[in-house]
Amino acid sequence: MLGQMQDYELRVMRLLDHAAREHGSREIVTRWADGSETRTDWSGVAHDARRLAQALERLGMKPGDRIATMAMNHAHHLIAWYGVIGMGGVIHTINPRLFDDQLAYIATHAGDRVLLYDRAFQPIVDRMKPQWTTIEHYVVMDGDGPEGFRALLDAEDGEYAWHEGDEREACLMCYTSGTTGHPKGVIYSHRSTVIHAITELQPAEFDLSTQAVALPVVPMFHAVGWGLPFALAAVGGKFVFSAVNEAKVLCELMNREKVTHSAGVPTVWFAMFQHIDETGEVPRYLKIVTIGGSAAPRAMVERIMRMGIRVNHAWGMTETSPIGTMGAPSWDWDDLSFDQQVDQVSKQGKVPFGVEMRVVDDDGNILPRDGVSSGRLQVRGPWIIQRYYGADEDALTADGWFDTGDVAVIHPDNVMQITDRAKDVIKSGGEWISSVELENAAVGCAGVAEAAAIGVFHPKWDERPILLVVRKPGSAVTAEEIQAHLAECVAKWWLPDEIHFVEALPHTATGKLLKTAIRAQYKDFKLAAA
Ligand code: AMP
Repeated sequence: MLGQMQDYELRVMRLLDHAAREHGSREIVTRWADGSETRTDWSGVAHDARRLAQALERLGMKPGDRIATMAMNHAHHLIAWYGVIGMGGVIHTINPRLFDDQLAYIATHAGDRVLLYDRAFQPIVDRMKPQWTTIEHYVVMDGDGPEGFRALLDAEDGEYAWHEGDEREACLMCYTSGTTGHPKGVIYSHRSTVIHAITELQPAEFDLSTQAVALPVVPMFHAVGWGLPFALAAVGGKFVFSAVNEAKVLCELMNREKVTHSAGVPTVWFAMFQHIDETGEVPRYLKIVTIGGSAAPRAMVERIMRMGIRVNHAWGMTETSPIGTMGAPSWDWDDLSFDQQVDQVSKQGKVPFGVEMRVVDDDGNILPRDGVSSGRLQVRGPWIIQRYYGADEDALTADGWFDTGDVAVIHPDNVMQITDRAKDVIKSGGEWISSVELENAAVGCAGVAEAAAIGVFHPKWDERPILLVVRKPGSAVTAEEIQAHLAECVAKWWLPDEIHFVEALPHTATGKLLKTAIRAQYKDFKLAAA
């Protein structure tokens, strides 16, 4: 017997329709790169998205066409996502911080036909144009030029019905930041996007409602802006966008607009701490801060929690839409001491319904959830990748799981903890040392701004860790002090053989330590004692 309920396709535009119909006057605030501010609301976004859909059709765009953005967070970027998807197109968010050869590759590989971009990225556009052979139209998204985004919309009346179709059609694509080889394209479907958006609303995830005022610091080009542009529409929350990511600007906006939810990579919060230390100004209305993209150091979690703000520690990937797990308050939260609570959230947390996870050894044997057996983290679910764009085969194991390339343990309470990237673990005498744990411990030492641990050749142990440290401005912290601090946090045989101070460390386009570059730099490094 079949069920007899309606076939209501899970299309992304239903999210915007809902926001515009039920929460139409809820505001969308933008602080632009030039310092000016504008306000619209969900019904304004819906009207403009219809006009953009019309404009794109007038430019000859057809359903399935890829239309790219290279832009920071602002209302026009939100309108672009919904307008492109509304006409049946696939929005391709390009990360402007990628290297030129990656930028050349991904726009062409995706077959982008239009590029909507911020004026700030004009030099990139000028430089890349000769190589971007598939792009026919370039549109500036901010500013009021005659060829600009506003002019494009103003020529249309907004009388437009969204393109309808199968919920399994593509709506958005994003390339992984790829530290080796070409970036790979991930194509999200309407269905995967809507299910993921609804999941994000849950209390144990982003905890969103119509009362939420969200300022996503994570750029919309980083892993679907962590899904917030879709999830917040589902509840009609208020958006506050900032096209610049300076802590001073963010903090001022957060207080004036009474921002309750924010999300970003750890470096964002380091910058915020520095601002707080210098000015004494704190974000007064923040309730929940979501940190992800790299491991949130314990010291960071603790400091934010001491401000009375809940920390969500998100693990995920471009390939997982991106939510995989979330470190959030557990059922016995109120019985835990403050230190235990901080410990808990410093791990990457639990899967929501819709993600299944397992940790396997190199032979594919499933490891126990005992908190010590570490292995490759694999996941599956309706918003997890099946196949990269243009690939001949699925990106899955023989039994249908996606291997994340991360190394993790799962604790007996089913909390997952990332211990490393598979290629970053330091193998000393056949045992694994977690570079992530060493780095996080080091950042907990006063005077340390950032740290990177890598393995270097050792004649007896194969590899031994060295630690590269960037000092905080004005700090004179010594290697001995850092070693003494580390000795309290990790096993003795994990302690780095040498500590070196550097001015800066290289990062990927999404703010992660660029370990490949660091390793290349220290390829022939000889330990003094070896
Ligand atoms: P991306 O697709 O650029 O977001 O990169 C995904 C990768 O970032 C994951 O495979 C992890 O290696 C890393 N990552 C993301 N979130 C976390 C986290 N909370 N803790 C540790 N690593 C993380």
